[in-house]
Amino acid sequence: MSEIVQDLRDGRAIPVVPNAFEIVADGSVRLGGSECQKCQWRTFPRVKRCLRCHSGDVGDVLLIPQGIVDSFTVVHQGPAEWTGVVPYVLVRVLLDDGVLVVSHLRECLVSDIRIGMGVRGALAVLFEEGGRSVVGPVFVPA
Ligand SMILES: [Zn+2]
Repeated sequence: MSEIVQDLRDGRAIPVVPNAFEIVADGSVRLGGSECQKCQWRTFPRVKRCLRCHSGDVGDVLLIPQGIVDSFTVVHQGPAEWTGVVPYVLVRVLLDDGVLVVSHLRECLVSDIRIGMGVRGALAVLFEEGGRSVVGPVFVPA
């Protein structure tokens, strides 16, 4: 079990957003998404109403965070409340099942990032708050 997973279980870390991710039995990360029961459109993060057909018949689904970099940018100045490290890289990832997800890219030099490169999901400490680590899903090279 990773140190982050243990910290989440022991309360030394908290998720950045409730239900943003789940840790499944093998220790890997799944993203908490939604799937429309009418048109089967999937999205992340979770929604209460389909953004494509507007149906309210939307259920929870766990998305496998594996895909390719669709676009990226380097953020040199975070939002006012950001206490994490800058600069950081934001990527838009096209998951293998077609869902677009925006998150941080870690463990990769900016000069090594390529559109279309394979990435996978991981958990990372985004920042510290109130003596606890705030953890969220990020991407790393596959
Ligand atoms: Zn729909």
